[in-house]
Amino acid sequence: MNADPNCIFCKIVAGQIPSKKVHEDEQVLAFHDIHPWAPVHVLVIPKQHIATLAEVGPEHAALLGHMLGLAPRLMRELGVVDGFRTVINTGRDGGQEVYHLHMHVMGGPRPWARG
Ligand code: AMP
Ligand code: ZN
Repeated sequence: MNADPNCIFCKIVAGQIPSKKVHEDEQVLAFHDIHPWAPVHVLVIPKQHIATLAEVGPEHAALLGHMLGLAPRLMRELGVVDGFRTVINTGRDGGQEVYHLHMHVMGGPRPWARG
């Protein structure tokens, strides 16, 4: 699997940095965000290193579909019953801090800390 040795999320995929995992399969990993904005805040990431959404192409369509399709399932499993937000920050102006593609999925009763 394509990995970047300096990437924090690749290290999470490799188990070199701990995470609170909520889902894992061949293609993706989902874990709780370390600084949650909402009562439930998970990140869904591809296991392969893709730096940003700006880098994806048609060859990633199935992977992206899988990531998005997981969101409702994970929220249900985590007890979110009244809606959720999905966010992908891309690049500097998009507010991206970690350059390994990730989708934020946030839910739970408001008010939230952010977002
Ligand atoms: P972004 O601004 O979209 O790049 O968001 C990066 C997210 O990764 C932030 O919400 C961070 O709280 C989260 N984050 C960074 N390091 C970790 C980590 N080791 N485990 C879990 N979440 C992390
Ligand atoms: Zn990475």
